[in-house]
Amino acid sequence: MDNVPLPPSAPPMICPQCHFPVQPEYYYCPNCGKSLHEAPLSTSLGTQLWIYAFSIILPIIAFLAVSRWPGVKYIKSADPEAQQIGVIAAVLMGISTIVSFWLAIVWIQQTVQSSVNSVGNLGGY
Ligand SMILES: [Zn+2]
Repeated sequence: MDNVPLPPSAPPMICPQCHFPVQPEYYYCPNCGKSLHEAPLSTSLGTQLWIYAFSIILPIIAFLAVSRWPGVKYIKSADPEAQQIGVIAAVLMGISTIVSFWLAIVWIQQTVQSSVNSVGNLGGY
């Protein structure tokens, strides 16, 4: 972990939320857990493996989902009723994709934050 160089006359920091005195190198307040400043991304081996595995598997899943998705046949169909089914299926898939991405982003942020939080506390104490 790199220590951020600080001027020697740096005033003691206090947590903006609970006014607990904190070290300038703390990423989180040890008293209330408030984020004090931007924590670096975790570069641990576990995180790396997880990101690499996710990056390999996700496009494969996406490809299989799209290539095997039956909605394409419906959209291309000459029958207006079948076309409507295909369009509804496409809209549902679009909404589902957006929700999945949103959930994944929230989950990743929480996972990264909690792992950095534990590292920050270990370094702080
Ligand atoms: Zn606090």
